[in-house]
Amino acid sequence: MIEVKNVTKVFNQGLPNEMTALSGVSFMVNRGELIILKGPSGSGKSTLLSIIAALQKPTFGEVIVLKNRVSKLPDDFASLFRRENIGFIFQKFNLIPTLSVYENIITPLIPEGLSDKELESKANRVMEEFSISHKKDELVKNLSGGEQQRTAIARALVNDPDIILADEPTANLDEKLSIQFLEYLKKMKKKGKTIIIATHDPIFFNLPITDKEITIHNGKVV
Ligand code: ATP
Ligand code: MG
Repeated sequence: MIEVKNVTKVFNQGLPNEMTALSGVSFMVNRGELIILKGPSGSGKSTLLSIIAALQKPTFGEVIVLKNRVSKLPDDFASLFRRENIGFIFQKFNLIPTLSVYENIITPLIPEGLSDKELESKANRVMEEFSISHKKDELVKNLSGGEQQRTAIARALVNDPDIILADEPTANLDEKLSIQFLEYLKKMKKKGKTIIIATHDPIFFNLPITDKEITIHNGKVV
């Protein structure tokens, strides 16, 4: 369901600060698999996830997700595709600081034209799941790092997406909350979701539910 074919990403191409972040990366992910993407800081994990989510285009190579060549999709189609199929948990959260937790969480649902009641019930479900309900009306700029992380997770998953891409989802969580996230992943895997987690967190290493661990080093799969 996800095919990464010979993906290379060069930043600042042709300039003195040219930098090859990914180099000839290829792998396949089948429906319902859980993949752990490991590698040191700067190895290219975030760049790879964002290319899979069509947030960035590869310089060479291609990415096919659910039979769509996402590496060639024009931006407006890419965002539509993402909204319908992918829950993306950003390493830097990408929340809107001046909006409340609730308002951030429902953003991906706005284009669906749901009633207030439906919005509220979907948001409540994920806020409960990730223990952020007590901050529902708080502005995001006033939250702790872990609370922002949980808000970002809740927003990514409020749509019940088939594909979950998570970039360091537990970087700001304590052990209890990290385990709670892990339990959620187990549940999602049982439901047949396809999941890729980019992480340094050893709680994700050698899990019995993992189908594949991919290690990248200097932009190459090792
Ligand atoms: P970390 O574990 O610290 O999150 P990472 O494995 O996610 O690291 P990336 O964020 O993918 O690494 O970055 C890979 C390399 O590409 C880094 O050297 C980074 O500086 C560079 N890079 C990423 N985005 C850009 C950009 N927009 N312009 C220039 N260089 C970039
Ligand atoms: Mg990263």
